[in-house]
This record gives sequence, C-alpha cells and structure tokens, in this order.
Amino acid sequence: MSETTSTTEIPIPEELASQIAITSLDKIYNWSRRSSVWPLMFGLACCAIEMICTAASRYDFSRFGMEVMRPSPRQADVMIVSGTVTKKMIPQIVRLYNQMPEPKYVLAMGACASGGGPFKEGYNVVSGVDKHVPVDVYIPGCPPTPQALLHGLIKLQEKIDGQSVLSARWYQRGTSEAVPVPLLGPDLVDPRDYPDFAEKLKAQQERESTPA
Ligand code: SF4
Repeated sequence: MSETTSTTEIPIPEELASQIAITSLDKIYNWSRRSSVWPLMFGLACCAIEMICTAASRYDFSRFGMEVMRPSPRQADVMIVSGTVTKKMIPQIVRLYNQMPEPKYVLAMGACASGGGPFKEGYNVVSGVDKHVPVDVYIPGCPPTPQALLHGLIKLQEKIDGQSVLSARWYQRGTSEAVPVPLLGPDLVDPRDYPDFAEKLKAQQERESTPA
C-alpha cells in the first residue's frame, strides 16, 4: 500500500508500524478505483489517433492502471470522447453511456468533443458532447497531445479521490437515471425537449386560433 493511503492521525505502536496501515473506507475504496479506470475502446475522429498514441509504449497509460481498454461498455469505467460528435453518432454515444455501469465518467477530449471545435457551425455536428451526457473533464486542444490526455486522466483520478461513498450520486438510492437517447430524423431531437415542444405547439395553436 502506498504511503498516501495511510494516515498518521491514529497512533500505531512502533513495533507494528511496518505492518499496519489505518485509513478511511473512502480512501482505500477510491485508491482501488482510481488505479484501475478502464476506458471504453472507441474513437470518433483525428483525436482518436492521439488517444491510441497515449496507449502505446512511448506514453503508456497502463502506468495508471488504464491499459485494459474494453470493447464492451458494460466493463468500462470511463468514456473518452475523442473526436467530432456528429448528430448521426450521438444516439450511439448516449446508448453506450447508458450501458456503462456506475460509477462512470466522461472525458471530452479535444475541441470537437468539448464544444464542436472547427465544425461548430456545421449542419451535422453537435456543439459539445456535454449537451447530452455529463462531462467530468474537458481536455483542450485540436488535437490534444498524449501528454494533455494523460493530464486529463490524472485530473479524473483527483476527482475520484475526492468522492465519498456517503455523498456521491452513484451510491444514493433511486438517483440512477438513463439519459434519453436522442432521435435522428431530418435533424436531431432530444427527448428531454418534448415539454418545450408541447409549450411551443400550444402557443402556436393559440396564435392561429385568435382572430386577427
Ligand atoms: S479537435 Fe481537432 S484533432 Fe480533434 S477531432 Fe476535432 S478537428 Fe480532429
């Protein structure tokens, strides 16, 4: 066990000091989680090449226990959204996010995933994956370097360190909710906007039925 997992607040007899570590449940639990964050194996565009480089031998994120990229969302802890998020792709991204078990995290890697990037005004591009799934860490750059991605992953570890089993949303009963999967038709429709549509339709019908 590393020194950072133990605390010196509770005195340990000198003869047992090398054999006993006293720590909190949060600290040992988060230490194990942050040391085995498995990413979901998928990429969307050019940023994915940098993500692949980060996994290769020069940068090697297996040093952080992250080398086991999972082809199934059911075995993944973090979704690295690496690339341009198109309207055609976002339903699949949300579906994959919903299939990941909690606790789960999302990294928006690069300008495209964070806010649309150079294609922000494009007819087919979502201006940020956070419009649909909650993002924990944003990594700037076009593309971000492998060092930047590693920095983002370290920031995610710091976030995990700060969570408590008593207060984190994952551990509260009845707080787990799937994100409604957007529908792609002539344009993208977010089911969460339905009440807004109903209001607008009602207002329009009232306008049309009012004599001029
Ligand atoms: S941020 Fe830049 S490098 Fe990354 S997917 Fe968008 S255009 Fe490509």
